[in-house]
Amino acid sequence: MTKTELSALEKQLSTLPHMQKAHLLNLLTELIESQTTSFIENESDVTCCRHCSCSSIKKWGKSAGLQRYKCKNIECAKTFNALTGTALSGLRQKDKWFEYLQCMFDSLPLRKAAQKVNIDLTTAFRWRHRFLNAPTKTQTKKVSGIVEADETFFTESFKGKRTIENRKPRKRGAEGNATKKEDKISVLIVRDRNGQVCDFVLNELSKEQIQGHLKPIVDSDAVLCSDGASWYKTFAKKENIEHKRLITLDKQRVIGKAFHIQNVNNYISRLKTWIGRFNGVGTDYLANYLGWRRLFETSEPSTCAWLRLAMGINNS
Ligand SMILES: [Zn+2]
Repeated sequence: MTKTELSALEKQLSTLPHMQKAHLLNLLTELIESQTTSFIENESDVTCCRHCSCSSIKKWGKSAGLQRYKCKNIECAKTFNALTGTALSGLRQKDKWFEYLQCMFDSLPLRKAAQKVNIDLTTAFRWRHRFLNAPTKTQTKKVSGIVEADETFFTESFKGKRTIENRKPRKRGAEGNATKKEDKISVLIVRDRNGQVCDFVLNELSKEQIQGHLKPIVDSDAVLCSDGASWYKTFAKKENIEHKRLITLDKQRVIGKAFHIQNVNNYISRLKTWIGRFNGVGTDYLANYLGWRRLFETSEPSTCAWLRLAMGINNS
């Protein structure tokens, strides 16, 4: 429909009596919801039981707009739908999902997203983290070719947490100085030249942590580029991986033009700028924000692609 046609329709709608408007409102809500449920069902391939993997299943009515199935295995006999076992299971108001995903796509703060989609703040919060659950966990399993790695730091924050456990609340003044190392959360970012990105929130900045995360993902034929930190050197030596150390003290930021860590550093800078708009991110949710940022950089830029990933479907 063209813009002119749409505004003509809007004009016509405004003249309708109250009851007809209410009827259309219900109709549209149903239509939007069924568009979402059709998308969910078309994208997910329900061929076996989501509880016991038995392939003998039967249709068992509909619930919340989704086809329900029942497992024929008498030991199990449970019912399920296309979202059972995914992070989106049990979430309601499917008519608002795409609109909400659009808010995430536009990086809207929680309050604004809640307002726009007309849901309460708690729902907006729950949805954000449910939609990010699968994309956060599924990152690339291998980085190859020229691989750049670097650490970055975020100020520890208890935002979104009711009680502070295992640690005294930060004191004001010098003791609670935000620049203190122990108040910072370290994150390792690894990026290859194909644009594959991995991120890891570290429990502590240590040789063991860095190496433990690098080992499974760095291809044995890769050339690792890093700063002068010794843990990269030890890792590369141990795993027999070619290593280029960019030691800024010696002004060796680039070795032979190709070997540098500018791509990963640019990524970190985009990440920091983007995360800055949220006015502090709770440490417990940092990984989800990293996953969210990764979506912008590594997935197809569409709400459909984001919903697919949230359902745990990874076509790549
Ligand atoms: Zn079953």
